[in-house]
This record gives sequence, C-alpha cells and structure tokens, in this order.
Amino acid sequence: MTNAPSILESFRLDRKIALVTGSSSGIGLSIAIALAQAGATVACHGNSRPAEAAAEAIQKDGGSASAFSADLSDPTGAAQLFDAVIAAYGHVDILINNAGIILRHDAVDYPFEDWQKVMQVNLNSVFQLSQLVGRDLIARSSPGKIVNIASLLSFQGGIRVPAYAASKGGVAQLTKALANEWASKSIQVNAIAPGYIATDNTTALRNDETRNRQILERIPAGRWGQPNDIAATAVFLSSPAADYITGAILNVDGGWLAR
Ligand code: NAP
Repeated sequence: MTNAPSILESFRLDRKIALVTGSSSGIGLSIAIALAQAGATVACHGNSRPAEAAAEAIQKDGGSASAFSADLSDPTGAAQLFDAVIAAYGHVDILINNAGIILRHDAVDYPFEDWQKVMQVNLNSVFQLSQLVGRDLIARSSPGKIVNIASLLSFQGGIRVPAYAASKGGVAQLTKALANEWASKSIQVNAIAPGYIATDNTTALRNDETRNRQILERIPAGRWGQPNDIAATAVFLSSPAADYITGAILNVDGGWLAR
C-alpha cells in the first residue's frame, strides 16, 4: 500500500477556488453546484441573469459560493470579472470557461456585429480569462485547472451558425495550445464537448417535434444530455484525478460523434 489518497478522494476539490463563467443557468449552474459539492468554493458568474440565485442554492446546500456579474461581450469584461474574483478570494485554482452564446443567420446575411459578439463571448473572453488565471498561477508556482466548454461544432460546421462554429473550433484549438505551454507548470487545460443538452439554449429545438425526433434518432444513447452529465465531467477534469490529462477535448454527447 502507498500513502496516496484513495481514488475517490482524488476527485475532491477541497480548499480550491473555482470560477465558473455563465453559472446563472443551464450547464454552468450545474457545474457550479457540482464543484461546490466536491468541496470547492465557487465564484458564480452571470450577466443578464444575476448569479446570486446560484450562489444561494450552493450556500443552502452547505457549500461556499458568491456571485459576480460581468458582460463578456465587452472586451473589458473578462478583466473586470477576474479582478473582482481576485479581490474576493485572492486567487483562482480552477477556471471553467462556460459562458457562451449562439446567434443564427444565413452566412450570406450574417451581420458582422453578431459575428464579433459571438467571437468575443465564446472565444476572446476564454483566451482573456485563461491568460489572466494562467499568468497568476505561473507567477505563484501554483498548480491549476482550466476547463473550456466546447461543442459538437468544434468538429462539425453546423448550418446558419458560422460564428458559433468558428468560435467553438477556436476553443478546441486554444485548449491544445495552452495545454502545451502550461503542462510543465502543472496547469492542465482541457475541454468538454457537450452534445445536445436540455437547457434554455435548446428549448426551441426540443419544442420542434420534427427536429426533436431527428436529433433523438441520431443520438446513439437515444436521449438528450442533462446538465449533470457535463457537471460530472467538469468535476473530474478539475480534480487531481485528472492531473495527467491535458489538451484533451472530451466528448460528452451520448455517442453522437462516434456515429
Ligand atoms: P444557457 O443556459 O443559455 O447559459 C449560457 C450562459 O452564458 C448564461 O449563464 C449566460 O449568462 C452566459 N452568457 C451569455 N452571454 C453572456 C455575456 N455577454 N456575458 C457573460 N455571460 C454571458 O446555455 P447552456 O446551454 O447552459 O450553455 C453553456 C455553454 O455550453 C455554452 O458555452 C454553450 O455554447 C455550450 N454548449 C451547450 C450545448 C447545449 O446543448 N445546451 C451544447 C454544446 C455546447 P446570463 O444568462 O446571465 O446572461
């Protein structure tokens, strides 16, 4: 027997400070709750919807959390959010880049303003926050984890979502680029590519009987994913159990991409 922690203990996040962007709803909210259940103190973040409800839900559950607000479509939003979290907690050990938007138009008519907004929220702010957190971890010689929420459209092109596909393809590449530079500093950078997950983002698809049937027929697991499917993976990738995983894009899609 060694003195190594038991395998389940290596999934725990006690004494870690985690920042989860876009944790006012959907996948981010589930991730924030799950990280707190695993022992982390969580900085919950929202924009149009305040993250106070997420933080209160965690506190009621016996966890530790507080709420932050920032508009990541503003190029200064990432730095404002980072500064506020540092002022509250001093540092960040785990960064979950989850906030994201999808704006649909035919490519020929795609307004450049919408292109820029999607790129700013989904890709630029991911780079900005990762750089701020990574720089601070390296300056303090501290290990850390970054988990980016990618998409099936990191691999596929989609239809009427060129900015979303370009941004999520960029998230996958950025994940690998940062992983390569920071692996030797004990900072692991990974991504999760969710399949079709039942959140506000996908309500319209689920309410469209034909599209819903087509999607379900295409998913080998035969069901929509739940936010908790992503949250469990985020806990794993944030934990010491994943210390030797970096630069990976983990598909959590019920088999969609394997098909
Ligand atoms: P959601 O419920 O709409 O959550 C999106 C989150 O992003 C919200 O908390 C939202 O905050 C935040 N956000 C949006 N615009 C923002 C802005 N300008 N500044 C700061 N935060 C902003 O959607 P979700 O399905 O959980 O999506 C979460 C992530 O998963 C996204 O990156 C999405 O691309 C990805 N994803 C989702 C699916 C799926 O099937 N649902 C599949 C693949 C990937 P406010 O509401 O407070 O503004």
